[in-house]
Amino acid sequence: APGTDLVEERPYRFRIAPHGPMRVPGVVFASRGLLADAEKSLEQVANVATLPGIVGASYAMPDIHWGYGFPIGGVAATDVGTGGVVSPGGVGFDISCGVRLLAADADRRALRPALPAVMDGLDRAIPRGAGPGGVWRPPGDGLERILRGGSRYAVAEGYGEERDLARCEDGGAVADADVTRVSERARERGLGQVGSLGSANHFLEVQEVAEVYDERIAAAFGLVPGQVCVMIHCGSRGLGHQICTDHVRAMDRAMARYGIAVPDRQLACTPVGSPEGRAYLGAMAAAANYARANRQLLSHAARRVFRRAAGMRLSLVYDVSHNLAKIETHGVAGECRRLCVHRKGATRAFPPGHPELPPDLREHGQPVLIPGTMGTASYVLAGVPGGDAFHSTCHGAGRVLSRHQAARTVTGQELRARLEAHGIAVRPRSWRGLAEETPEAYKDVGEVVAASEGAGLCRTVARLVPLGVVKG
Ligand code: 5GP
Ligand code: MN
Ligand code: MN
Repeated sequence: APGTDLVEERPYRFRIAPHGPMRVPGVVFASRGLLADAEKSLEQVANVATLPGIVGASYAMPDIHWGYGFPIGGVAATDVGTGGVVSPGGVGFDISCGVRLLAADADRRALRPALPAVMDGLDRAIPRGAGPGGVWRPPGDGLERILRGGSRYAVAEGYGEERDLARCEDGGAVADADVTRVSERARERGLGQVGSLGSANHFLEVQEVAEVYDERIAAAFGLVPGQVCVMIHCGSRGLGHQICTDHVRAMDRAMARYGIAVPDRQLACTPVGSPEGRAYLGAMAAAANYARANRQLLSHAARRVFRRAAGMRLSLVYDVSHNLAKIETHGVAGECRRLCVHRKGATRAFPPGHPELPPDLREHGQPVLIPGTMGTASYVLAGVPGGDAFHSTCHGAGRVLSRHQAARTVTGQELRARLEAHGIAVRPRSWRGLAEETPEAYKDVGEVVAASEGAGLCRTVARLVPLGVVKG
C-alpha cells in the first residue's frame, strides 16, 4: 500500500517513514519471509503512530497480525507527562491474557505410563468453552477480592503456594485496580467464569523440554532437557471483554472534547491523566488481576491432577501477560520519562539486572513464554540487555489464516487423528474450535523466535514440544 513502504534498516528491522499524520516512524521486527504475511496490518502500525504523545516508534513484533485498531503484536508507548493517551484497543479485548509455565519434578519417560490418566483428569478438571463454568464460584465479596488481589488472593484462599507469587509478573497482582470502574455487566460475565480457559486459542498443554539453547539460564529457570512442563494460556474471559467494550465506548464519546482525532475509531483514546483514561486503567488493572487469579486457579487444578494421577509436583517457572498497558519508566533521548506502554500480543521482556525480577532470576533476565501451536513447538526466551521496543518481544506464532479459513482446511476429527498419530494426546471441547487452531493457521514459531532474537529483543532459552493438549 502507498505510504507503508518499508526500508530495511538492518537485518530483522524495517522502518516505515513518518508520513501524513504519523508522529513517529513505524518499526517492524521481522525476517523478509515473515514480512510477506504482515501486509495489511502494517497500515495499523502506521495508524498507531498518529496517537497523541507516542514516543520512539510504533513497533510491530514478528508475529504481527490484524487486530482491533492496533495490530496484534504491537507495542506503543505514550508520554504520560505531556498528554500522552491510553487506548483500550492497544491492550485488546482479552485484558492480561497471558501464559504461565509450570515445571514437573519428572521427565517424559516417567510420565509416559500415566499420561492417559493425566489427560483424562485434566479433561474433567479444566473448564473451557465460550460460556460460563469455572473451577471456583467465589463466595460473597470474592469477586471483588479477585479484582483487587489477583493471584495473591487465590493463593491466600489456598489455591497455590507462596512461592508462586515470586514467579508472577507484579508478584501476582497489579496495584491501582479500581473496582468502581468495573460495570455490573462485566461482573456478571466474570462471576461464573473464575478458573476457566475460554475459547480455543486458549489451552492447557502438557509439554516436554525438547532442546535447551542456554543451559545456564534454563537451569536458573528450573528447566532441563526431557523435563515435563505444563503451559497454560488464558485471560480475563467475559469480564475483560466487557471492560474493553465499556471503555472503548466511553472514550469514543469523549475523544473530541480533548481535541483528539484518530484515523480509525477503533483507536479510541484519551489522555492517561483524563478521567476516562484513569477509569480505563483502573478497570483494566482489575481485569488483569482477574486474569492472573484465573491462571493461578487453573494451575491449582492441574497440580491436583498431576499429583493424583502421576505423583508429580509442578512448580511455577513464570507467569507473564501479553495484553496489557503499564506505566513504566524508560530512558527516551537520554531522559527518564514515565510512559504508558501498550503491549498487545507482545510480551514484556525485562533485561538481566532489572530490579523488578525475583532475586534468583535477576542476573538471567525475565522468562518470556511463547506458545507456538499444539502440533509443533513452544519456546522459553529471556529478556536481554538493551532490549528494544521498551523491553518487549513477540507473544506467539501469530495467525496467518482466519478462524474461518483454518476450519475449511481440516475437520476437528481429522486433526485430532493426525496429532494423536504423532503421539500428541488431544482433549478438545469442540471439533470446530479444534480445527480453527490447526497448526497451519499459524506462522512458523521457530522463525518468529529467530527473528525476535535476531532483532535483539530476546534470547532463546529452550524449545518445548507438546505431549498432550486440553483445548478451549
Ligand atoms: P493469542 O493470545 O494471540 O490468542 O495467542 C497466542 C499464541 O498462542 C498464538 O499466536 C499461537 O501461536 C499460540 N497457540 C494457539 N493455540 C495453541 C495451542 O494449542 N498450543 C500452543 N502451544 N500454542 C498455541
Ligand atoms: Mn486471550
Ligand atoms: Mn493470549
